Amino acid sequence: MEIFLSRDGVFPITRDGEGRLLRGLPASGIPVAGTIQGEGKLNGVPSLFIRLAGCNLHCVWTTSEGSVCPCDTAYASFETRGAQAVELVEIFKLIGINRGNITHVVITGGEPFLQRRPLAELCRLLAAAGFHLTVETNGTIFDESVARYVDLFSLSPKLSSSTPPPPYAARHDQIRLNIPVLQDFITYARQYGKDFQLKFVYSREEDIDEIRSILKRLCNWRPDDILLMPMGVSPRELDETTPLALEHCIREGWRFCDRLHIALFGNREGV
Ligand code: SF4
Repeated sequence: MEIFLSRDGVFPITRDGEGRLLRGLPASGIPVAGTIQGEGKLNGVPSLFIRLAGCNLHCVWTTSEGSVCPCDTAYASFETRGAQAVELVEIFKLIGINRGNITHVVITGGEPFLQRRPLAELCRLLAAAGFHLTVETNGTIFDESVARYVDLFSLSPKLSSSTPPPPYAARHDQIRLNIPVLQDFITYARQYGKDFQLKFVYSREEDIDEIRSILKRLCNWRPDDILLMPMGVSPRELDETTPLALEHCIREGWRFCDRLHIALFGNREGV
């Protein structure tokens, strides 16, 4: 069975599927396989990443000042040049050969749940090999055949500030927020002893009222499940959004969500 991987695929790795050393260092510049999870409850935990290709959304953020910031992994979402179908056994081999002492695998995208059938099988293989699994999702599709193998659901619902210009706006707005699906994830996590986080991108003041109104429609969450992440990847963008995001976290009792990987390695693929 195959799954569509983005061009950075399985990262960071130092050996190919046959165990041969790859030429050059991983993009992190560190001469070992693996990196750290840079966002959320597992911030700082050594992890290997698998990035799937394709997304059902088309996020482009606009701040109140008019700055525009498209999806930072557009190459894995709506401009999927270089994506390729890869056999699950090949991915499993790559992870096994590069695992070292790493116990955590993060499956991200794009939107991983778009490929729910091969995703369920990949998660089954990795869970059976003893890995802790995080799946990062925009929270628009739930599938129990995947969820049963996942330890942490990293849900990133998209606010109206993520709406792109036409011709993508109407479809994006129609599907970006799915309250019943978000509740399915939360209820499943609570019922089966899994963890979840609701990670919101903060780009402008109006986002806060929108987040409050989403949280009113959801149940069974705690304030420390709610993460607010300042929008932006450049120092200029982050200077604008970080102080306000911090202030709102303190006022509301939510977690501030840093992006440690960007501080450590810059905004690069494969780190
Ligand atoms: S949902 Fe995530 S991967 Fe998809 S376009 Fe939005 S930010 Fe990018």
